[in-house]
Amino acid sequence: LGPTVTVGEILVEIVATKIGVGFREPVELLGPFPSGAPAIFVDQCGRIGGSAALIGAVGSDDFGFVNIERLKRDGVDVSAIAVSPDYPTGSAFVRYRTDGSRDFVYNIGTSAAARFSWTEKVEALVTRSGHLHVMGSALSMPSAWTVIEKAAQVIKARGGTLSLDPNLRKELKYDDQTEARFAQLVAMSNLLLPSGDELERAAGVEGEAASIARLFELGVGEIVLKRGREGASCFLRDGTRVDAAAFDVKEIDPTGAGDCFGGAYIACRRLGMPVEQALLYGCAAGARNVTVRGPMEGAGTRAELDDFIRTTKRLT
Ligand code: ADP
Repeated sequence: LGPTVTVGEILVEIVATKIGVGFREPVELLGPFPSGAPAIFVDQCGRIGGSAALIGAVGSDDFGFVNIERLKRDGVDVSAIAVSPDYPTGSAFVRYRTDGSRDFVYNIGTSAAARFSWTEKVEALVTRSGHLHVMGSALSMPSAWTVIEKAAQVIKARGGTLSLDPNLRKELKYDDQTEARFAQLVAMSNLLLPSGDELERAAGVEGEAASIARLFELGVGEIVLKRGREGASCFLRDGTRVDAAAFDVKEIDPTGAGDCFGGAYIACRRLGMPVEQALLYGCAAGARNVTVRGPMEGAGTRAELDDFIRTTKRLT
């Protein structure tokens, strides 16, 4: 039915190289790395061999170049990425706290990342796409929402499917409108990929079992729960549950684990693989990515992930 398409922010990330230092005094920085949750997702999708495309915008600057070249290299269709002559590519400066958490200084709202629209190129892409993957981080951006809403209608009308990674972030504001958009998308989703408390947030009820039951009632067909070093579980509407253990790796940079997991999982499912195999590749992609500094630097090809799976112990 055509490529997996996603919509949203394209950024570069610039990271503090030392843990525990802030930005209030000069620090050593590393980057720019191509980034943005939708870009990481789609890059992993492309790397593993899934047909994938991204709708968004960059500026006509080096940061935009870094992103477009990386996505093209990894087989992603970039035909619907606009290059703005007026606004710069979005960026995020990241520092790591000693407890493992991260702080961001974002330049998104004032960048090209927050300014794209439904163009002829977007229309041409969407009318030949078979699956829309939505990242929750795009829901509070007006331009992204306009495109997502329209793309969801077009893709669903042609028999395509929809997945949602809630991707709720403490840095982003969730007002009533964003919550309403979130609920609207949950009810349209065939596949949901929550982590942490996002399962309960999506279902609007408390407890794992009750949340899963509620989401099936709402029409979701497949729920994949991401649990970091505890692996992942898939729940199907027919009552099937499949668990997958995580891989035992040393985490260097947690950014992008969930996005790589989702990219690999959805690409594998759309290539016709069973849940077990898709979970295996999802866990491998998430784990491999955290071993490398940079949000998508550890995304793997099928051969790289096969090698990783062969040589890495599982956590039980
Ligand atoms: P999110 O980033 O969306 O919260 P997770 O942190 O659960 O998602 O990561 C997604 C998947 O990536 C996990 O299910 C796991 O398989 C893998 N993963 C993430 N972090 C690690 C880690 N530190 N060690 C091993 N695997 C990991």
